[in-house]
Amino acid sequence: MSQPVVQLRDIRKTYRNGDLEVHAVRGISLDIQPGEFVAIMGASGSGKSTLMNTLGCLDRPTSGSYHLDGVDVSGLDREARADLRNQKLGFVFQGFNLLARTSALENVELPMLYAPQRPARAAMKSRALAALAIVGLADRSDHLPSQLSGGQQQRVAIARALVNQPRLLLADEPTGNLDSRTSIEVMGVFQSLNEQGITLVMVTHELDVASYCKRILVVRDGLVVRDEPVANRLIASEQLAKLRSAESAAKLTSVAP
Ligand code: ADP
Repeated sequence: MSQPVVQLRDIRKTYRNGDLEVHAVRGISLDIQPGEFVAIMGASGSGKSTLMNTLGCLDRPTSGSYHLDGVDVSGLDREARADLRNQKLGFVFQGFNLLARTSALENVELPMLYAPQRPARAAMKSRALAALAIVGLADRSDHLPSQLSGGQQQRVAIARALVNQPRLLLADEPTGNLDSRTSIEVMGVFQSLNEQGITLVMVTHELDVASYCKRILVVRDGLVVRDEPVANRLIASEQLAKLRSAESAAKLTSVAP
């Protein structure tokens, strides 16, 4: 088997507030292989964010080991973790987090400005345009976020997450601010990226959104209590086609005498 993208071994995270200890993660071991598409689910307070912050090298566990694409993250200082994040990870957030007065193209170029080897100006532009093309927005590159729909803004954010060619894409409630149809469209973008070989992990509290992934982890009280392949996986393109045919049937009925 190839090297896992993520290898967690007995990860624990304890927060201390004065005398109070909160065991947010209580011993999680987990492998994620290249090409997986994992949903993390669980009630509020179950430890999902703590787990995602660990995966994203944003926070250090209290104990346990984390190898990201073969690199031992536990031994790295803050700066080295930031470099590793920039090289190997892409992030997508619930609120898109785009710069408001900046075009789609410039938003997507942003992570390259912070890359250890910043590409030349022309190369940055062509890579950003290529990433926008992957999410179907090549023709919107000069639009500001306010000139784009919520779904389009999230696609710009996905292009930004892709532009440094990450080993792992982490998405935190990426459909949380979107209506149900737009959510399916965004899950379709993730599914096609996954088909192209990108490994994805996303937090969601919606089971129907998780059904577009390939594997579901359920976290409870800081532990993974379920870890299974998605049964009856949904395919976004099929769901969208069903929606369209239901809509055209409804239109025909409404104009019928
Ligand atoms: P979820 O994302 O599933 O809502 P979290 O990982 O945010 O769960 O939280 C898990 C537990 O850790 C909760 O009890 C939460 O209150 C606690 N917790 C999270 N972050 C902190 C922190 N910085 N300080 C203290 N307790 C925290």
